[in-house]
Amino acid sequence: MVWTNQVALITGASRSIGREIALLLARRGAAICVNYAERTDAAEQVANEIEAAGGRAMTAGADVANFASVEAMVEQATARLGPVTILVNNAGVLYQATLETLNHKQFDRMRRINVDGIIHTTRAVMAGMRTRRYGRIINLTSIAAIGATLPGNAFYAATKAEAAILTRRFAMELGSEGVTVNVVAPGFIRTDMTQQRRHGLEWLFIEMHVRERTIMGRIGEPGEVANAVVFLAAPETAWITAQTLVVDGGRMDYLAYS
Ligand code: NAP
Repeated sequence: MVWTNQVALITGASRSIGREIALLLARRGAAICVNYAERTDAAEQVANEIEAAGGRAMTAGADVANFASVEAMVEQATARLGPVTILVNNAGVLYQATLETLNHKQFDRMRRINVDGIIHTTRAVMAGMRTRRYGRIINLTSIAAIGATLPGNAFYAATKAEAAILTRRFAMELGSEGVTVNVVAPGFIRTDMTQQRRHGLEWLFIEMHVRERTIMGRIGEPGEVANAVVFLAAPETAWITAQTLVVDGGRMDYLAYS
């Protein structure tokens, strides 16, 4: 495995799944750009941890919904670490809503992060990847996009379904130039996103709900998603593109015909 000279930009790497992806890619030998939105301290902790273990890392605050910020971040990463060879579009938000409670402003913001964010970062790195005829792009969607039935996630699911089809179309556009583009679709993972606003009994209830509908009988951990991302980011994974790797412990509650 030749992981030297690999530079990975991971969006939303200050916490949870993104953090684990950053740490694992660093352990493989990639230099890491730790992107975040607001939590500078958390991002710096991830970079410090990588450097303390002998790796190379930097932090970059940028809202992925803003193309100018994303372009500036890619320029900084290239100048400090070298050309980006691995892009992991992990940053995402979840605003729960039903048909009754839908808030259009929130839905629009969620789309701008979960969908436009992927478009912005891909456009910002693709010229360099094309020139070097090498690149790995991994987008995080969700099993919600392919029919998992946790209530309250319909509009989030729509943003992730959009991200999934964009992945396959981008794979078509970039494949002949040596760039693979794939999706990792996690099930229910113990992160800040799933734990926010769910306290005490509510958390125990949701955990039990998911456990009962999962072949492996438990919820997932961030590192388990990171393993799948690192597989698709590897130099050897050159013949896998436009694919969705589901990491859900074997969830059994999918809508019919999804
Ligand atoms: P999380 O715990 O909420 O962490 C979100 C990360 O994204 C943070 O690092 C945050 O930065 C960053 N972020 C948020 N908005 C951003 C923006 N506009 N620009 C740049 N960074 C931004 O999320 P998670 O649970 O780890 O989820 C990671 C990804 O997996 C998401 O795409 C999510 O949709 C997907 N996913 C998660 C689950 C699950 O069960 N957790 C299941 C399926 C899919 P700050 O720290 O600065 O706020």
